[in-house]
Amino acid sequence: MADVILALDVKTREAAVTIAHETAPYLDAIKIGYPLVLAAGLGIADEISMEGLPLIADFKVADIPNTTRLIAEEVFAHGFSGIICHGFVGRDSVLACVETAHDHDGECYVVTEMSHPGAVDFFHGGIAERIAALVCETGADGIIAPATRPERTQILRTRIGTKKILSPGVGAQGGDPSAIAEIVDGIIVGRAIYESEDPARAAQEYARMCSTQKI
Ligand code: C5P
Repeated sequence: MADVILALDVKTREAAVTIAHETAPYLDAIKIGYPLVLAAGLGIADEISMEGLPLIADFKVADIPNTTRLIAEEVFAHGFSGIICHGFVGRDSVLACVETAHDHDGECYVVTEMSHPGAVDFFHGGIAERIAALVCETGADGIIAPATRPERTQILRTRIGTKKILSPGVGAQGGDPSAIAEIVDGIIVGRAIYESEDPARAAQEYARMCSTQKI
């Protein structure tokens, strides 16, 4: 059974609040990032967190340790329970994100490999595996790995043991929940839910699909 995490990449406060409220009963967490926060301000996170679900900040932080810490502190001051950072920036930056998250009783997830076609340009050839090793060394809580390439996510699973895997790419990017739900802890679904004519029904359907799969 895998969690269903909504990627709430809508561009208005009204749409975000409405869709979050309608879909919340079928979700395990909500992820927001640049599209919504740049459009509606960081205060939208405080509003969405009122739904009572874990809220993940997808800013894919990729900066020096001090700036990473400043960003993460701002995130955890606004109702988030988790943050996503990049791993390619190196151990000290990832550690800054992990430590700041843990100081706030939050979680840090590290992108090991992205889900879009261009991800193979740089993440393949051993980089994703090295980032997975860094995740274990730094005490990060889990990784972001692609639903669009279940065979790659399976390899990354062997590198991180029981740490969590959250997996985007289901739906609009072509990923199939039945191919990934058994090896991950949560699927991340954006457009296939929030662009649906009935987001609540779409969320419910993903929840049903994920509840019939075994990890
Ligand atoms: O709409 P869709 O389901 O494709 O949304 C996927 C979400 O997951 C987006 O917010 C995207 O930025 C994010 N994401 C991704 N691939 C990654 C990391 C994050 O698609 N490797």
